[in-house]
Amino acid sequence: MSDATAKKEERRKFQAIRGTRDLLPPETALWNHVEQTAHEVFSTFGYGEIRLPIFESTELFARAVGGETDIVSKEMYTFPDLFDLAEIIGRMRDVTIELGIDPGNEAKWQEKGHGVAKKVLEESTVTLRPEATASVCRAYIEHNMQQLPQPVKLYYMGPMFRRERPQKGRYRQFYQIGAEILGGTDAPGIDAEVIEMLMTFFDKVGLQGATLYINSIGHNADNCRRGYVAQLKAALEKVKDKLGPDSQRRIDTNPLRVLDSKIESEQAIIAMLPHIADHLCDECKTHYAAVKRQLELRGVLYQENWRLVRGLDYYMRTTFEITAPGLGSQNAVCGGGRYDGLVELLGGPPTKGIGFAIGEDRLILSLQESGKGKAQQGRDVYIAWMGERAYAAAVHAAKDLRKAGFSVELPPVEQKFGKALGQADKLGAKYALILGDNEVSEGLWTLKTLSTGEQAKFPEPDLLEFLSQQKNVSS
Ligand code: ATP
Ligand code: MG
Repeated sequence: MSDATAKKEERRKFQAIRGTRDLLPPETALWNHVEQTAHEVFSTFGYGEIRLPIFESTELFARAVGGETDIVSKEMYTFPDLFDLAEIIGRMRDVTIELGIDPGNEAKWQEKGHGVAKKVLEESTVTLRPEATASVCRAYIEHNMQQLPQPVKLYYMGPMFRRERPQKGRYRQFYQIGAEILGGTDAPGIDAEVIEMLMTFFDKVGLQGATLYINSIGHNADNCRRGYVAQLKAALEKVKDKLGPDSQRRIDTNPLRVLDSKIESEQAIIAMLPHIADHLCDECKTHYAAVKRQLELRGVLYQENWRLVRGLDYYMRTTFEITAPGLGSQNAVCGGGRYDGLVELLGGPPTKGIGFAIGEDRLILSLQESGKGKAQQGRDVYIAWMGERAYAAAVHAAKDLRKAGFSVELPPVEQKFGKALGQADKLGAKYALILGDNEVSEGLWTLKTLSTGEQAKFPEPDLLEFLSQQKNVSS
């Protein structure tokens, strides 16, 4: 490396990785508000929080999310997680024994060693979670939650990772708030209540213009979805040459996903395709009708969208999506649905399941676009002090005010009052508490209301009372 290059390297400015971002104050106050509201609303519906690992075995996601999905086929952050040589050797020994190879048999080892190493590598491969439903189901099985009173109602929040093309509302590290109901029945009241909870949350957090879309995708049987998919496939074959390459490919791999297409020229063709509602079996039809009735009972407004599908076999019956304004083409803030086969697919007992995931980044964007996101982060009180004795009084005042719940800025070094007041203004403080030697010896403290310039003098105990009263008036 030349000296010049080395120097340049040294001065290299680090930036957050593409698709990741820092969330900064004051915006983080809005994030906290959204998350706090979720904690509150979900707990009124009897949900408990589950905190999950950020990474899991790759196989879990491959199985739960599905190998043909975009997520598993190209978006996952995956790496082998082996600690050191000793761990590698230890695992190789275990696998060798597992495969019934005699480690002392040199010829056998020559023949099978490659396969052993491959298996060790595969089994030790982990993935940053692209979603959390798989982990919740894994935890349900691992902790024998089927022995608890059913259904088990859990929610989570936190970062997810997908290697996607970054754009507005689409990041590589993004945040979801989600919930799952596992076990018990698939009574339509469960589907309706989980949606009611979601809409209550969106309402409480101040999201305007949210639209709920629902659909039923039946279940995976010949007299229901499988029959429909066969008809859909046949219909698609007839119009194949009018479709783009992605949709053409999906006719074979996953025909339902064609309905997802956003490509303008395909819309008129898709509109002519058969609807799943006309192919549901009697039980699924009854279930869907009951979910809609139950939503009406709860005063939840919905629109039906026959094109709302999920590409995986274990998804069934109720599917839903919520869109919000101000997000351009990334306007889905929540997706959800019923997945009765998933826990079993992961090695657990047959278990009913339904859940949703909210895209928190998009929810926040929509709140900000509608002007709801103006988080105030000014201080209540800025303490302008001068002189050693005043500083001691200021430290105590700060302590008392903070204890009473006020946000207080106490500058660490002395500054002239003019400069201090300017600083208080810049920080958006409501009040400046002025403490000089005079104030301290008189025992009367000056409080300046920064918006009006009004000043008043208070003995110390009255000051707290005055501020508390003002706070009650304004809140
Ligand atoms: P989309 O069709 O927008 O890619 P998706 O079907 O991949 O969404 P889900 O896996 O159902 O999304 O996740 C639920 C929600 O998570 C989405 O509705 C969206 O709000 C949010 N979400 C998904 N991927 C991202 C991402 N890369 N960045 C930000 N939010 C995301
Ligand atoms: Mg996606």
